[in-house]
Amino acid sequence: MSLKPIIGGNWKMNKTMQESKVFIDELLKNTKNLQEKIDIVIIPSYTSINVASTLLKGKKIYVGAQNMYFEEKGAFTGEISASMLIDAGATFVVLGHSERRKIFNESDDLISKKVKTAHEKGLKPIVCIGETREERENGQMEDVLKTQIEGSLKELTEEQMLGTVIAYEPVWAIGTGINATPEQAQEAHLYVRQVLASIYGESVSQSVRIQYGGSIKPENAKELFAQPDINGGLVGGASLDPKSFLEIIKAAIP
Ligand code: PGA
Repeated sequence: MSLKPIIGGNWKMNKTMQESKVFIDELLKNTKNLQEKIDIVIIPSYTSINVASTLLKGKKIYVGAQNMYFEEKGAFTGEISASMLIDAGATFVVLGHSERRKIFNESDDLISKKVKTAHEKGLKPIVCIGETREERENGQMEDVLKTQIEGSLKELTEEQMLGTVIAYEPVWAIGTGINATPEQAQEAHLYVRQVLASIYGESVSQSVRIQYGGSIKPENAKELFAQPDINGGLVGGASLDPKSFLEIIKAAIP
């Protein structure tokens, strides 16, 4: 498959504005020749989105947010809208991360509203799905992925689906140091593509980029990204250090 790989660095609740600047300055020094070959998305805290997008102006490195709310404005204390993120310089938004699903009780229904709004306003969603260890051990992986895909990506047009990135992130692999093996990841990605094909047709399913996420490190990245249905990665811990993030970026370039 020859889809352009996409790597996201999900910083979660880390880095001040100054730390973000230091990281981006360092990344820019080392990615000049890579930016055409791969989509790189830096996903900092809200407070660093504008810092990052200002430093990355004119570069082919994009900025994403880690979440958003589906309403445009109003009495929603603590929330942020798609338009505000665009105003701050974001082009991508991560939706339905397992930490949002678990710690903040986000449902597929809520995620689906956010995905739709993101598209309507012009943000590209990176939608996370993935099973827990218990679900995998009970043989429910496929059911869980199918439910999450159908629930959080419902009623999208073909064009919107094509503009969506899916991140397969098995919950048991996130932040644990235990990544899915390349075979386990490939099996899940292929299944995700089959579910997409059943809803949106074969050609759309072959054109949607599916990232793997969960304990990606420079040591395991190459093998994971070599799998035919893996089109890049969503990196947490290892994206906080510009050196390891850069190694992972390089590993994703065919
Ligand atoms: P991790 O996180 O790379 O630290 O496992 C991945 C993620 O949560 O997106």
